[in-house]
Amino acid sequence: MKVTILLVEDEEGLRTLLSAELAFEDYTVIPCASGEDALTQFAAHQQEISLIILDWMLPGIDGLGVLRKIRRHYDVPVIMMTARDYVGDKVSGLDAGADDYITKPFDTEELLARIRVILRRNVVKNINDKKFHVGPLALDTKTRQVFAADAEIQLTQREFDLLLTFMQHPGEVLTRDDLLDAVWGTNFDGQVNIVDVYVRYLRNKLKESVASQMIQTIRGVGYKLGAADEENAL
Ligand code: CA
Repeated sequence: MKVTILLVEDEEGLRTLLSAELAFEDYTVIPCASGEDALTQFAAHQQEISLIILDWMLPGIDGLGVLRKIRRHYDVPVIMMTARDYVGDKVSGLDAGADDYITKPFDTEELLARIRVILRRNVVKNINDKKFHVGPLALDTKTRQVFAADAEIQLTQREFDLLLTFMQHPGEVLTRDDLLDAVWGTNFDGQVNIVDVYVRYLRNKLKESVASQMIQTIRGVGYKLGAADEENAL
């Protein structure tokens, strides 16, 4: 499946150049020339969009304004572009929820490398998406199927919900309480170590697969789904 990128840049020359480069890398590009257009296109295509490349200086709603509006409801990765190289700008961009930041002029190869890093880290973070990918693991909430590379893994409902919670937060340390609330609900009044029991079940199901080492114990805290290393990334 092609990855769709929303490209927001008012300078026509750069927009055309980047659109061509991204298309050449086999991304589907939705080019926009203004913040308003970006919000309209995002609203229309948010299910497909995996990444936004967002110029800071735009006429009308600027890049920061676009980012803030999108961040109210969506977790889609955003790379900000700017001609200004102030540390203060970088900080406010990152504070507003940008995932990365690139200063113009830049080498297209550098932008492409950053795109690949972000897409590997979280191919899908959009909360409305039904498919989650972390490294070699893929999970589809509609069909309730889980794949490690191409091998399907059969999980019970509880194991599935546990893995889903991990895949919604790749690379984040989740405490036992976090997992208990997400999977068993806040009204669950059993023992918190049920989490450890189910993590063990889940690891068992994954142990013959390429994802065998992905659920890591963070001693004294909880667990995390390890960001896949470069070799395992899809
Ligand atoms: Ca601009």
